[in-house]
Amino acid sequence: MLVTLETTYRVAKLSIATLLLAMATAMPADATPIYNTCYELGGSVGYYEWAVDEHGNFTDAIYLDNCALDDLGAGPSDYEQVLEHEQGHAQGLSHSSAPSDTMYPEMLITGY
Ligand SMILES: [Zn+2]
Repeated sequence: MLVTLETTYRVAKLSIATLLLAMATAMPADATPIYNTCYELGGSVGYYEWAVDEHGNFTDAIYLDNCALDDLGAGPSDYEQVLEHEQGHAQGLSHSSAPSDTMYPEMLITGY
């Protein structure tokens, strides 16, 4: 589900306790990939975003910069790797310091 800027703004007005409760009860792994964010992710090829509205409803989304990925020559397995990384964030994982790990913050575009 698409998270709008308006929704993100509402998050800022909620208490930390409300946000933590929403995160604990949400199903963030259902994040829907959105592929049309051409060069709008500040240099990232992928991005995970979540928000809670004034009713406590949780929404999240995974954004993929398909324009940047295509320009870099990314293939299907490269797209899959970006999706797996962002799904990891959706499941609550943070970055890893091991270069071979899915949650390492950088990846090599293989073209495959
Ligand atoms: Zn990441």
